[in-house]
Amino acid sequence: MKIFVINTGSSSIKYKLFDMANDRAIASGLAEKIGEADGMLTHEVTEDKGRPWKKSTERDIPDHRQGLNLIVDSLVHPEYGVIGDKSEIWAVGHRVVHGGEAFKASIIIDERVIAAIRENIPLAPLHNPANLTGIEVAQAIFPDSPQVAVFDTAFHQTIPKKAFLYALPYDLYEKEGVRRYGFHGTSHSYVSEKSAEYLNQPLSKLNLITIHLGNGASMAAIRRGKSTDTTMGLTPLEGLVMGTRSGDVDPALPFFLADHLKMSLGQIDTLLNKESGLKGLCGINDMREVLQKAASGNEAATVAMEVYCYRIRKYIGGFFAVLEYLDGLVFTGGIGENAPEIRRLCCQGLAGLGIELDTERNLNTSKEIREIGSSNSRIRLLVVPTKEELKIAQETKKVVRKSRGN
Ligand code: ADP
Repeated sequence: MKIFVINTGSSSIKYKLFDMANDRAIASGLAEKIGEADGMLTHEVTEDKGRPWKKSTERDIPDHRQGLNLIVDSLVHPEYGVIGDKSEIWAVGHRVVHGGEAFKASIIIDERVIAAIRENIPLAPLHNPANLTGIEVAQAIFPDSPQVAVFDTAFHQTIPKKAFLYALPYDLYEKEGVRRYGFHGTSHSYVSEKSAEYLNQPLSKLNLITIHLGNGASMAAIRRGKSTDTTMGLTPLEGLVMGTRSGDVDPALPFFLADHLKMSLGQIDTLLNKESGLKGLCGINDMREVLQKAASGNEAATVAMEVYCYRIRKYIGGFFAVLEYLDGLVFTGGIGENAPEIRRLCCQGLAGLGIELDTERNLNTSKEIREIGSSNSRIRLLVVPTKEELKIAQETKKVVRKSRGN
């Protein structure tokens, strides 16, 4: 059974084709700069087919439909294709950023679902329209394959009101949907399931804090397998310090920037989302480079790392109080999986909470799920590689099977 997963952005389509017999990706890639002068298609055939192959080609990709057609051409290519015909694709899974309150789980896409995703556009004005474009072109290109929407927000729909409400006039919540939603749900859900498997306990009995540190970053407080709080809010801007996003700031900051510096709303949006975070603090948004600069004595990079990790520690303390007891702390995402120095700073000084890192285990560079806590650590400390696309494929399989009654 082959499942095709796509993540459509305003000028890109990221994709992975899975063979669900062994949950392995057999091909993946990215069509980017769609509609721009220098379009590019990168297609990769994964090694387990015995024919590793990766190539980037400059292509004219005028729109998403052409982009998806080019991707399909690569998948069925006579020389390096991995399937004979697109009809082999059993179902298509779409990453959809904002499901609002309408979606508490993944769902087969029909007209009603499309309308609800459209209704949520005000909550995700950049992402949801692009996701809808992806759905529309995939429906046209794969008319016989069921399409499933998997939402970034759905996993966090179990967060209670006391945690998701902002202390604003209540009408703003009731009439406009202004509340905290949370994102990265697919990743938090996947790594919590994998942690439970690793710890050999039912997820429904575990309390976990999951820390996803990629270009975007968020944490989730998971009580007995269900998200009970998270750091992102109405949008992905709230919470942790990220590559280019500020995370938490005083809500009065935009007034200051507008009044004092005469910045427009658009400029403030760009400042907080694209020019802040690690980039704002030290000029670099890529953590690998920040770590290298800090190691060579650059003070701005050192401070940026400290601010980054201090915010995480603050939320670990907060989520500890929310959960009352904790079984495991889980690191994931490009930084969480690969940056021992960041994990060390995040756990520093938390022995009182039962969080004690083992220096050597923390330096282990394995790509597998692994434990990094010392034998004295009351809380189990794990690194769990996230696989968001695989989780979307698994959800797609589950939802389609359920709809067919098997
Ligand atoms: P995305 O959120 O776009 O999926 P990733 O999860 O791949 O991003 O995370 C990207 C971040 O991970 C970047 O800041 C990158 O520098 C960082 N990263 C990747 N590998 C390493 C590494 N070996 N050491 C430190 N940081 C790393």
